[in-house]
Amino acid sequence: MDNIIKFLSDVFGSSNILTEKEILEYYAYDAQPIKGEIPLAVVFPQNADQIREYLIYASKHKIPTYVRGGGTSLSGGAIPLIENAVVISMYRMNRIIDVVPQDLQARVEAGIAIDELNINLNKFDLIFPIDPGSSAAATIGGAIAGNAGGIKAVKYGCMRDGWVLSLEVVLPRGSIIETGTRTFKAAAGYNLTGLFIGSEGTLGVITKATLKLVAKPKRAVVIRAYFSHEREAAEFVVKLLKTGLDPTAIEFLDRDTLEAVKRYSGLEYKGNAMLLIELTGNVKEDIEKRLDMILDMLRNEGAIDITWSKTEEEYQKIWMARKAAAPSLSNIKPKYLVLDPTVPISKLPELVDICKRVAAKYDLIIATFGHAGDGNLHPNILYDPLNKDEFEKVLKAAKEISIETIKLGGTVSGEHGIGLEKVDVFKVEAGKEKLDLMWEMKKLFDPNGILNPGKLFPREYWEDFWRV
Ligand SMILES: Cc1cc2nc3c(=O)[nH]c(=O)nc-3n(C[C@H](O)[C@H](O)[C@H](O)COP(=O)(O)OP(=O)(O)OC[C@H]3O[C@@H](n4cnc5c(N)ncnc54)[C@H](O)[C@@H]3O)c2cc1C
Repeated sequence: MDNIIKFLSDVFGSSNILTEKEILEYYAYDAQPIKGEIPLAVVFPQNADQIREYLIYASKHKIPTYVRGGGTSLSGGAIPLIENAVVISMYRMNRIIDVVPQDLQARVEAGIAIDELNINLNKFDLIFPIDPGSSAAATIGGAIAGNAGGIKAVKYGCMRDGWVLSLEVVLPRGSIIETGTRTFKAAAGYNLTGLFIGSEGTLGVITKATLKLVAKPKRAVVIRAYFSHEREAAEFVVKLLKTGLDPTAIEFLDRDTLEAVKRYSGLEYKGNAMLLIELTGNVKEDIEKRLDMILDMLRNEGAIDITWSKTEEEYQKIWMARKAAAPSLSNIKPKYLVLDPTVPISKLPELVDICKRVAAKYDLIIATFGHAGDGNLHPNILYDPLNKDEFEKVLKAAKEISIETIKLGGTVSGEHGIGLEKVDVFKVEAGKEKLDLMWEMKKLFDPNGILNPGKLFPREYWEDFWRV
């Protein structure tokens, strides 16, 4: 082990390595509840060449290696699962290399936080529109590796939807490649950029990215409406999406979530479900016209207590209920396991019903909110960590929701990734043939299996290299 530490100090510099056990313990966690292994060391690279030198050494000496951005993964993507691992923290590779406003592009290092990038884009009247709820800490590299989405995905989609034009990636076999081009269209060859988006740190270390930007919309309005029944709110979302009125965000909060927010912030809610619908644009008359049409639809479809923002203050106040949703859950139970099921949009009402049915079956509280306009909900299964029986039920309920989602033609993860947490259900979703093909690709990029061992693939695949 001393040899490894000496090598790391030589390559990264002694001020860019952590080895104190008390500090390393922090790196055994990310934003989900399961604790991983405490790593041997954490390194903070300054450039791709250092990472290349390390990966050649790690491949030769078979050192389990975990890449970490902001550590906000909700699927255990960023935590070590094998003893004596090295964590590569990208947090100090956080520069904006250039912004080319006339091309609507920015080139950045992978460790920059998404909010930090957007603060810097303000002066150009541009935004990078992929905005996970964790954007204050989540890095561009982590968001690419997890194919992140966010509240505005109804309009802008996720990372995979054209926002990443090219990537610099360091491969375990020691090469540094540049994927893609600096053009919005490219039809030359395989889509290697797309392959790394969503690869969850298993194929290579992303060090730089060229991103597509958009003009910052000058106007935004958010509508809030309640519904008597949760299913009615979900049915409204399906109807609204068919109108072509181009909402930027459609968020859903169920009764359990509203009750938690009420206890947290005093929200006075009506009915059993809330929808928040955001419209953005530059032309006042256009927004007003779309707003009127949606308000009419809401009235006709039985929504209650409808309101919308007329000032910036009201805009922030209306969105507060959604922003408070996750933090408020601890007022009900100390912990929660958050899921990420996503279904074809017409199946959204059925997904809402499934969450309710499973909660009743296992006698659990499942507070569900999320990106309804993408068919993507976050059922949060609440539990007390001291109650082992309850946690067993949580795991059964989580599996049941995921399996029912697959039966609806959906996916177990719309944006959080598989990590370690959804490996078993991903096996059901993907099937053997597809997993075998992905594993062949994994071995092509990482022949010694050193990158993110234990994640994405079921245990039996990793046994080629490790006991996980
Ligand atoms: C409060 C909260 C709200 C959230 N809301 C959303 C949301 O709305 N939408 C959404 O999509 N997600 C959301 N998330 C999940 C998570 O924040 C995002 O997926 C985020 O993009 C992860 O970025 P990160 O930098 O923290 O990555 P990490 O958690 O550090 O890592 C995530 C994965 O990416 C890999 N990775 C990280 N950096 C690199 C790199 N440079 N090269 C190769 N692999 C890398 C890691 O190995 C790991 O597998 C939320 C999380 C929290 C805690």
